[in-house]
Amino acid sequence: MKTLGLLGGMSWESTAVYYRLLNQGVAQRLGGLHSAQLLLHSVDFAPLAALQAKADWATAAQHLGDAARGLQRAGAQGLVLATNTMHKVAGAIEAASGLPLLHIADATGTALLAAGIQHASLLGTRFTMEDDGIVRGRLQQRFGLQISVPDADDRALMHCVIYDELCRGLMRPESRAAVVALIDRQRLRGAQAVILGCTEIGLLIDTTCSPLPVFDTTALHAAAAVSWMLLETP
Ligand code: GLU
Repeated sequence: MKTLGLLGGMSWESTAVYYRLLNQGVAQRLGGLHSAQLLLHSVDFAPLAALQAKADWATAAQHLGDAARGLQRAGAQGLVLATNTMHKVAGAIEAASGLPLLHIADATGTALLAAGIQHASLLGTRFTMEDDGIVRGRLQQRFGLQISVPDADDRALMHCVIYDELCRGLMRPESRAAVVALIDRQRLRGAQAVILGCTEIGLLIDTTCSPLPVFDTTALHAAAAVSWMLLETP
């Protein structure tokens, strides 16, 4: 098994889900007492969130690049960055560490194409929904997908639910209902599926409540990482 370096803490609520899914994935494939061989660098999210808010991506890239170098020195052979938004600086992290990074958009795009989806709606932080340099552009260019995003009011709602609630461990029924209604508006505009393009949204929304088929980036990214660890993918 290859050793995975997990860059987490953004937020720790979703990193805990990654940790469980990675271990469950390896145990399911190998059986017995097998579990994931990984190193975790979990950051303090508050300073990074402050850098995001002032669009200081260069300093954020430096912090995460330092963390990734530490994982490389400790024996990691590849990286998973357990957040969509910080894929804004994925290239810088790869360059700083010299390690391959399993991009969250590739795991997602592969699953969407396999399911025959052509048009999906992307939910995430304001950054992820509005900046083509995070996951949206990659899904469009590498996978040929049509990716739409909610309108400005709904983007603001999604962004606040993520930072004010989900990243703090708050799952409110009122917010679930509001996000379900938002997803339904995407369905009415022609989306065939919804991408949970923030690693915490799966804590609130799943297939049982969503009006559209759900593609959860956390679950898809963790599954891709398990395949990579078990040498099923390069
Ligand atoms: N975990 C979230 C994401 O997947 C949001 C927190 C962050 O900005 O890193 O985008």
